[in-house]
Amino acid sequence: MTLPRGEVRATTLATGEVFGELTEELQALKAADLYRAPRVFEGRADRVVIKDGRELLCFASNNYLGLTADEAVIRAASEAALRYGTGSGASRLVSGTMELHVRLEEDLASFKKTEAVLLFGSGFAANLGTITALVGPEDVIYTDRLNHASIIDGSRLSKARLEVYAHADADDLESKLARNKNPGRRRLIVTDGVFSMDGDLAPLPRILDLAEAYDAWVLVDDAHASGVIGPRGAGTADYYGVDSPRLIRLGTLSKAFGGEGGFVAGPADLVDYLRHKARPFVFSTAPSPATVATALKALEIVKTEPHRRERLRSNAERLREGLRSLGYSVPGGPTPILPIMIGEPGRAVALSKALEEWGVLAPAIRPPTVPNGTSRLRVTAMATHTDSDIDRALRAFREVRRSTP
Ligand SMILES: *Cc1c(COP(=O)(O)O)cnc(C)c1O
Repeated sequence: MTLPRGEVRATTLATGEVFGELTEELQALKAADLYRAPRVFEGRADRVVIKDGRELLCFASNNYLGLTADEAVIRAASEAALRYGTGSGASRLVSGTMELHVRLEEDLASFKKTEAVLLFGSGFAANLGTITALVGPEDVIYTDRLNHASIIDGSRLSKARLEVYAHADADDLESKLARNKNPGRRRLIVTDGVFSMDGDLAPLPRILDLAEAYDAWVLVDDAHASGVIGPRGAGTADYYGVDSPRLIRLGTLSKAFGGEGGFVAGPADLVDYLRHKARPFVFSTAPSPATVATALKALEIVKTEPHRRERLRSNAERLREGLRSLGYSVPGGPTPILPIMIGEPGRAVALSKALEEWGVLAPAIRPPTVPNGTSRLRVTAMATHTDSDIDRALRAFREVRRSTP
């Protein structure tokens, strides 16, 4: 049946009848304690945040170095907006490339000790664009079971064959690589450097050895590692002191760097290739001057003020030891991400709510962000937390441990 042009047939259906299935799914999420509504904050994303007019100590952020509220960073962003305006006006390959973008790419390349860097609008876009540009249906991706959603989605979109290996398990990766000696055109191993919800590290030295043995490329996603781990704060490879021509380093500017954006660092030809083929780069507007200036200033701070990283590390240690002495089980390691495993989503939410009553923000992380049965509190330290912030948080954790079933 065709409709006459320009006429919309009147419907007798109410909206609820059209979208009713979605309403049912939302109700099912509520029944399973998986419904999510954003909390709204009134001031800066800082060590103290304001919600409903009330101050909360923030242990819930990826703003590890506190740079979102750093006066020098804020000034750099403001000055860039005044000088260069609010937007870039076009994608990078049309007319959106400003001298700021070029300078940031050069500075990031020297920080990562690679030949070149390509900026993206977000870390999510960087993963999507890089993976889909590098592999296709003929190829195989070897991916850690707990990799970030942007890696999973990029991998699916690439249509490459997926081999999912057990979390951080180089032996399982090797058995999957060995199973098929000649799998196709390309092999790409992809892993988070620091796993976002667990805070542990990929076994990068062994992964690089396996890549050498099996002729694979390695993409390491340092979203939570850049600016945080390694003697220079340069990420997972810096932490382990390893390097390889097979290594592609992905980073975000949205976590320790206090702003937004993502980037890929690697050999000049790889970056040049991505500049042509990575669709979220080609078909998306270049990041705004304030965004780029934020990252430039943040990078300068990461390079020249290592004491902030040291403070982050010692704060995480103080928090971890305190939580353990209260009887919480918290894994060790060099990152500021401290997961407290709970299990059922309802309990994780109840604990998070109780902490908020005590003035502490620590979010419940539930499926689909983490696997079923592994709901948790994800507590994160910041470099700008004071000793008394941490002690107050630990008092709150002690109280809720008593009172929450
Ligand atoms: C946050 C995150 C991303 C996405 O970065 P955005 O800049 O927030 O889009 C990618 N990978 C990992 C591991 C992350 O944690």
